Amino acid sequence: MTDVAERLAELRDRGLHRRLRLIEGAQGPRVTLDGREVLLLCSNNYLGLADHPRVREAAAEAALAWGAGAGASRLISGNMEPHRALERRLAAFSGYDAALLFGSGYLANTGTIAALADRGQVVFSDELNHASIIDGCRLSRAETFVYRHADLEHLAWGLREAGRGRAALIVTDGVFSMDGDVAPLPELLELARRHGARLMVDEAHATGAIGPGGRGTAAAAGLDGEVDVVVGTLGKALGSYGAYACAEPETVDFLLNRARPFVFSTAPPPPAIGAAAAALDLLEDEPALVDRLQANAAALRAGLAAEGLVGERSSTQIVPLEVGEAEPTMRLCELALEGGVFAQGIRPPTVPEGSSRLRFTVMATHTPEQLRGAARTVGEAARKLGLVGAPA
Ligand code: PMP
Repeated sequence: MTDVAERLAELRDRGLHRRLRLIEGAQGPRVTLDGREVLLLCSNNYLGLADHPRVREAAAEAALAWGAGAGASRLISGNMEPHRALERRLAAFSGYDAALLFGSGYLANTGTIAALADRGQVVFSDELNHASIIDGCRLSRAETFVYRHADLEHLAWGLREAGRGRAALIVTDGVFSMDGDVAPLPELLELARRHGARLMVDEAHATGAIGPGGRGTAAAAGLDGEVDVVVGTLGKALGSYGAYACAEPETVDFLLNRARPFVFSTAPPPPAIGAAAAALDLLEDEPALVDRLQANAAALRAGLAAEGLVGERSSTQIVPLEVGEAEPTMRLCELALEGGVFAQGIRPPTVPEGSSRLRFTVMATHTPEQLRGAARTVGEAARKLGLVGAPA
């Protein structure tokens, strides 16, 4: 067997092999998946903007006006007006004077961390941070101190012991992507200030979804513009593709010069930029979308709790149902699908070994009835597999 074949076989043996499922149409609340209609409960299209008519039209108009692609890095072939305008809006939206667009959240995180932390320095990273943050730490030549999830004492100890004047960056998800809990930002900021480090917050699942007007976890904590670097994404609640980093203008100028995914990669395509700008318009016009999303999230959490299924960690639109091992997790996923509910099973390395789960993500465009029905379907499936007892 080849090396690749062996490694694929090992993935299959461990219940970790993944495959793509075919979806028809846009990322709406209901979709046709592998030929059957199901409720979609695992898309990050939180506000329903990816399939919103105004956002679709804006993408089409931007393609007609500016073309399908950006041609090159903006440092090479020029800064296009839609990019410049969107950066100004995103900076103002987040409470900053400057922002820089990246091709994706993955690129924004890897590029920003690797630029801001250097050899001889230390990055402090929450153990449940997203893979793109982990990879950013690896790409920077700094040491990484991984602190226990949201454990401020462990972080403070690390800053004292490992930092010793070398602490470059504390980095955290704002909303944790697989658990749906929110980082303790005021305390993290305080520790960063005390130890002369920057605080960087990845608002991927908070942009458009959390806080006043959807301005994220920093705004929710009353810290608009206070966090040193905020990364937000265009590909989730804003329904498009791409990402941005906000910081003070000097830091943004440094990223423009030194963040390798910005310097060495083609700028996001104009249709994605046009779509994101239209999504921001919609968010400004209809801030109640954010309230609807969070009310729906509460409805799903309550429905799952009534089935005896969900822990209390999540306070957001990301609702995990931890099963444990990969294999029963995928069986629960398939059984829920048979009942018309699509919530993807999440396995290592996306989550730690032994904490495989279904990860539900709610949209503002679901109805509370759909969500209550989904909770019942999943409860029934979990009981059938012997994963829980009778509902409360
Ligand atoms: N950060 C977090 C917390 C994420 O969950 C993700 C994507 N799932 C990203 C960054 C990457 O964003 P993108 O999909 O735009 O690359």
